[in-house]
Amino acid sequence: MTVPNCPFLSLDSLWIQVAGSSCNLRCVHCFNESGPGNREMPPLSREDVRTLLDAAEASGVRDVVFTGGEPFLLPDMAEIAGDALKRFPATILTNGTLLTGQVVERLSAVARDSLYSLEIRVSLDAPSEEANDRIRGKGSFERALSGVARLEEAGFLPIVTAAWGEEGSAPEALEAFDRLLRSRGFRKPRVKFLPVFRTGRERERSGGYGEEERAAAEMLDLLGPERLLCSTARIATSRGIWACPILVNEPDARMGDDLAASCRPFPLAYGACSTCIRHGAVCANAATAAREG
Ligand code: SF4
Ligand code: SF4
Repeated sequence: MTVPNCPFLSLDSLWIQVAGSSCNLRCVHCFNESGPGNREMPPLSREDVRTLLDAAEASGVRDVVFTGGEPFLLPDMAEIAGDALKRFPATILTNGTLLTGQVVERLSAVARDSLYSLEIRVSLDAPSEEANDRIRGKGSFERALSGVARLEEAGFLPIVTAAWGEEGSAPEALEAFDRLLRSRGFRKPRVKFLPVFRTGRERERSGGYGEEERAAAEMLDLLGPERLLCSTARIATSRGIWACPILVNEPDARMGDDLAASCRPFPLAYGACSTCIRHGAVCANAATAAREG
């Protein structure tokens, strides 16, 4: 099968793997195998991020997304977000378990001082403690929900993000998340589903992708390349720029040392690319695959 190239359309979003592969959780499906003490991809400093933000501004980037690992392992994550918010709307992807009152207060202060919006996405993989903690670890359900509650109290409208496999019905799952969040008193539950990628730790759990599970040119044409993150975004890490956040453990998905070098078409040669195309995976906040409001 010929590997289709995803054209590079424009650099709209810069993702920043600010925490590298360090995480306080070790979820069974983590596609970049983050975990406690994992220094495979070292974190970025506030100064490193400032340099990236300069490059992003010069390249016409419209928004930034912080990810990891777990961004709030960095003691100055709120201030790093504040640096970004001076120039761009920003999103932080977090597991929510480290959102103490003090962290949320500092986030609130930087968001208040900015003309741009700060979105926070909190991962929760099931609407029940038992099912969620089986994936994300004991205690993670209640700690994440406490984080969501603190964000709500501070005036944020966090997006609860669930990695959703093929099991069960998505509308029913959405209802269940909605019920859970409303039962906890959240005013405006926002829920986003993302597909499970069978890479990283999930590869061990589910066997990864078969040779035949690859993107085909017809599939890409049907979807439209503009729907894929890799057509309008790149991810910056402490080891260079990668095509997308899902492939940061794939050496061949490294696009170069700087943003300019990374703005070129990318061959969709990975099993994960077939998941993106089948699900029409869109990682942007605005394209939530589920209910908001
Ligand atoms: S899925 Fe997120 S919270 Fe879980 S181990 Fe990976 S980076 Fe950490
Ligand atoms: S995994 Fe998805 S976002 Fe990443 S290169 Fe493949 S199609 Fe693009």
